[in-house]
Amino acid sequence: MKNLKIAIQKSGRLNEKSVQLLKNCGLDFENYKSSLITTASNFNLEILFLRDDDIPGYVEQGIADLGIVGENVIDETQAQVNYLQRLGFGKCSLKIAIPRDSSIRELKDLNGKSIATSYPVILQSFLDEHDINADIQIISGSVEIAPGLGLSDAICDIVSTGGTLKSNGLKAFADVRKSEAILIGRDGLEDNQTVAELLQRIQSVLRAKETKYVVLNVERVNLPKITELLHGVKSPTVVPLAEEGWVAVHTVISEEDFWGKINVLKSAGAQGIVVMPIEKIIL
Ligand code: ATP
Ligand code: ZN
Repeated sequence: MKNLKIAIQKSGRLNEKSVQLLKNCGLDFENYKSSLITTASNFNLEILFLRDDDIPGYVEQGIADLGIVGENVIDETQAQVNYLQRLGFGKCSLKIAIPRDSSIRELKDLNGKSIATSYPVILQSFLDEHDINADIQIISGSVEIAPGLGLSDAICDIVSTGGTLKSNGLKAFADVRKSEAILIGRDGLEDNQTVAELLQRIQSVLRAKETKYVVLNVERVNLPKITELLHGVKSPTVVPLAEEGWVAVHTVISEEDFWGKINVLKSAGAQGIVVMPIEKIIL
């Protein structure tokens, strides 16, 4: 059977987490910085290392079967690909930013202004949606210096902390879209067993990341209160301790309500709470 091919970013903000995700799925492969392609030794998969901008096109054309890339890039390239799984990393926002001393106050003030960006397609559709007629200046990098150089009145770029904006005398003005890394696939993979297997592994890694394994000790008299608090979990495991009248409760809770749950469990008599990461959850 032909190897499945997945395209991931060669270097940049998504590279490390994409490689890590595949490794966490149990795939074993060499990750030489110099090679453009590598083969997993224990899974039917080749990994192609590409510039992120090229990934949606490669997948659309079927040169790669799968890809990991930011939603922003998928939208910008307008490639016809299928979203298989949100991956929870590479989270960022595409925003319009203006100079701190700009007279632009509301969206309609952008009419007749020029906006520098590397995302002309996404920006144009945002402007159309808001009935704004602005002049888009396409530049491929260091967009944030454009207003300072007199090239544009505003910019539209990816912002995470806002630090780069600040150091260039800019401030965020409007949210255009949010983005995160996505696993995409070409058409025609519906019955592909290798894809189904990889997807199952990825989902089990993602689920594990959202949850913690918790072990706590409690006096048997307080056990009903504790199991009540842990509702939502199918059935915690209860193990007797050597000390008479005490048990250990093992369970899995979501990272999201972690601190809230831990504190109520403590007030309900839980002691010696141990919290551990989970590697995978297979349903
Ligand atoms: P390439 O050389 O592959 O073209 P690039 O310079 O275009 O890389 P990066 O800066 O590495 O791109 O960003 C890759 C993707 O990571 C972006 O398209 C976006 O989806 C996401 N991203 C960008 N900036 C951030 C950020 N500050 N925090 C988190 N994710 C980000
Ligand atoms: Zn890029």
